Amino acid sequence: MIVLGIESSCDETAAAVVADGREVRSSVVASQTAVHHPYGGVVPELASRAHIEAIGPVVEQAMADAGLSPEAIDGVAVTRGPGLVGCLLVGFCFAKAWAYGRGLPWVGVDHLEGHLHAVMLAADAPPFPFVALLASGGHTGVYYMEGPRRYTLLGQTRDDAAGEAYDKVAKMLGLGYPGGAVIDDLAGRGDAERIVFTRPYLDKTQFDFSFSGLKTAVHRYIQTHPDTYRTDQADIAAGFQAAVVDVLVHKLLHAAAVHNCPRVVLAGGVAANGGLRARLTAEAAAAGIAAHIPPLAFCGDNAAMIAAAGYHHLQAGCRGALTDDVYSRNTRPLPAAGPTDCR
Ligand code: ATP
Ligand code: MG
Ligand code: FE
Repeated sequence: MIVLGIESSCDETAAAVVADGREVRSSVVASQTAVHHPYGGVVPELASRAHIEAIGPVVEQAMADAGLSPEAIDGVAVTRGPGLVGCLLVGFCFAKAWAYGRGLPWVGVDHLEGHLHAVMLAADAPPFPFVALLASGGHTGVYYMEGPRRYTLLGQTRDDAAGEAYDKVAKMLGLGYPGGAVIDDLAGRGDAERIVFTRPYLDKTQFDFSFSGLKTAVHRYIQTHPDTYRTDQADIAAGFQAAVVDVLVHKLLHAAAVHNCPRVVLAGGVAANGGLRARLTAEAAAAGIAAHIPPLAFCGDNAAMIAAAGYHHLQAGCRGALTDDVYSRNTRPLPAAGPTDCR
């Protein structure tokens, strides 16, 4: 089954063609980073407008890159939420019209479920079950995944997401938006043991997170070292990243141990982090657990992951209705869903 995926929940307009939820025929991502960079964050109204301009060309490009005509597409999968409503509406309405005009089945997909499927696009896609850490710009949680459409949320952040903490620390250091890749790069050149930040483990036996205290600790450090923080940027970044990575890796491997699960998965924009990828690979190997990490291109927002997740819903017979609407917040935590439970 060949699925056209469409994603527009935040500041990337994306379209992709994926066969059988695994084989990427094309994946186009138009990033709006340059639009939002001067503002230090995503400006919703500017984002919606940029999506409107990009959506048509991006879908056409994805079709052209796949070398397919619309007749070859069996179904459409589109992000329904969570995200910015104005942004979601652009992709959602476009997908509805694209499918409806061609008499094709289509289905709305949860953005987080999409992130959790990115690893299925890797050459060494893991078998089920696995424990997955989803760390992105707006969410951080640990999931137990027993199969496509069968997820259990084990724990999540009580305040900021991991990616959000990266973005805020980058902003404090005057490094612009988005901050993840910049901090990651700086951290690689710094000394992680010179400026040590406390690890927000909370209860070590639970799977919840907290990153706002860590963010505040970095802020306080900057305030109390006004003369040196600029020259110490790399060490601050390294200290911050070490604290984040420690917590993420600890919680993920602990969840795998508690669930007696031999494999773990990374998902979300923060899965692109070099320090996190290296530490998880090393610590999982030492613990005899297989670590599966998505290719870099599918960590951040993209439409191939949406097509991969949507494929399973379409296969199960789930169909979107023209009256369906988008949703902004994660008010529909990914449930354990049976084959007849279409959301
Ligand atoms: P969500 O998926 O929760 O709705 P989002 O779609 O905005 O939010 P993603 O696109 O998945 O989030 O990820 C973007 C986030 O990932 C940003 O916060 C960004 O700073 C972070 N990020 C990207 N690359 C890296 C990196 N190398 N290290 C750490 N964080 C990174
Ligand atoms: Mg983005
Ligand atoms: Fe995302």
